[in-house]
Amino acid sequence: MNFSLIRTFGYFIGGIWTAWGGRKRIEAKQLKNLRRLIQKARKKSPYFNKLYAHLPDTNLIKLHDLPVTSKVDLMGEFDNWLTDRSLTLKQVREHMESMDNLGIPIGQYAVFRTSGSSGEPAVIVITSSVLEFIFGLSLARFSKRQLQVAKKIQKAGTNVIITGGNGHFAGAGFDKLRQNLTPPITRKFTFIPAEQAIGETVKQLNETGQIASILTYPSMLAILTREQEVGRLEIEPKLIKVAGETFTSELRERVEKAFPSLEFGIIDSYACTECLFMAFECDCGRQHVPEDWVILEAVDENNQHVPDGELSTTALLTVLSNDVQPFIRYDIGDRLRFYRDPCACGSPFRSFQIEGRQATVVRVGNVTLSPLAFDLEHESAQRVQLDQTSEFVFEVRAELLNHEKPDQVFEQIIQSISEVFAKNGLVDVKVGKSDTPPQLTASGKFHEVIPLK
Ligand SMILES: [Zn+2]
Repeated sequence: MNFSLIRTFGYFIGGIWTAWGGRKRIEAKQLKNLRRLIQKARKKSPYFNKLYAHLPDTNLIKLHDLPVTSKVDLMGEFDNWLTDRSLTLKQVREHMESMDNLGIPIGQYAVFRTSGSSGEPAVIVITSSVLEFIFGLSLARFSKRQLQVAKKIQKAGTNVIITGGNGHFAGAGFDKLRQNLTPPITRKFTFIPAEQAIGETVKQLNETGQIASILTYPSMLAILTREQEVGRLEIEPKLIKVAGETFTSELRERVEKAFPSLEFGIIDSYACTECLFMAFECDCGRQHVPEDWVILEAVDENNQHVPDGELSTTALLTVLSNDVQPFIRYDIGDRLRFYRDPCACGSPFRSFQIEGRQATVVRVGNVTLSPLAFDLEHESAQRVQLDQTSEFVFEVRAELLNHEKPDQVFEQIIQSISEVFAKNGLVDVKVGKSDTPPQLTASGKFHEVIPLK
């Protein structure tokens, strides 16, 4: 993997130039990038070649001509999906078996997996051009104030990331990758695994000294906020950045109250592993789409566009910077509402609100746990789901691969779950086996953990 500062600068300059030209230039750039991606996908990806066989010439194609794609379909055809035939799912899975490989590229590509909280886990392949796009374009989209914050935060203390550490997630892996590839101009982070006992995390944070920033999920931030409110946690971060789940205004208020030290505020970063730079928050607090390189569509249950101002059923994502693993009109399951009026910040890029992805924390007695605390992966299971049937009773549902002793697999999963409860001081929680297979939501989504309603 060859990270290039020159190409990063190219994304930066290009990004400034496109924004300067207003809507007309943004839309022209988007269409040009889209057709280039379609052309490559048709030529090099057997999956897209077949999917797009009935479509007109690439130079005539518009976004709405393209069929919608889903995680399940694409993952099922992984080896036919990529435009580079040399990387296989088997290779990626083998690489991911060892946590020592986290953030270490396989040849030209970095690989991550999704948490699976909004469906089955997906494997994401990231090229150097994706990294150059993330750095170059986010810099081009920063406001003057944000640039100043980025500069000041460098010298403000320790930067902490608290995310899932039980797999090749981008949260922790991206920073490792960045440390491996880019020159030492970027911030270094201290990583705390979200799976460890909350008491341990609180202790570690309290002992950290001056914390400049914390990057975590809203569900983890909710837990930390409560710890700070009750006085077990005593930290004074200057900046908090959240990603991966919906950040509600209620939680924002509580966080601001619990952490009066937040000199640089809270940044809500709307992104997913499939597209690590999907939107940017402006000084007015709105999310804008970097439409020259990312397409985000708000659609109804029939994948038809919903008018601006109306809440969508789901959203379709097109990532124009990744031509190795094409995500084109890819259903991400989030509910969005595009604003009707332009933003007061003056940005020519469209802005929207997010309504989906509520932080689903699990409450047992006085303890609140993030779903990420549980490691619900087992080599002999395709899908594992933990269902809270009453406050202190949980059931494990699993789809097992052919295994001689299925009860033994269940035992091992139950054992790992029970350890998480015990680590958090919950010794009287009952975890049993369920004969029901894992359940999907009405819209076909898969949640690894289903808290009691
Ligand atoms: Zn704005």
